[in-house]
Amino acid sequence: MAEKVIKIWPRQETDKGGILMMPLKKNIPKGKPYWIPTKCPECGKECWKTKEMEYLAKKQEMILRCTECGIRSAVN
Ligand SMILES: [Zn+2]
Repeated sequence: MAEKVIKIWPRQETDKGGILMMPLKKNIPKGKPYWIPTKCPECGKECWKTKEMEYLAKKQEMILRCTECGIRSAVN
């Protein structure tokens, strides 16, 4: 099988490190009721996070970044 998949989600339980991407507010202005407005720690753009993302980030030692910063660092 020559299937090439970039797997962002779901992560393996054992995965550690990396970047957890938060959707940008400018891409999804309304968000969801349980989404928490926050700012990207790197670029300061407004984005969304969830309790689950916070939990996962802590548990799997990931850093939270907006999608733009996440993609930028994945490409570089
Ligand atoms: Zn950012």
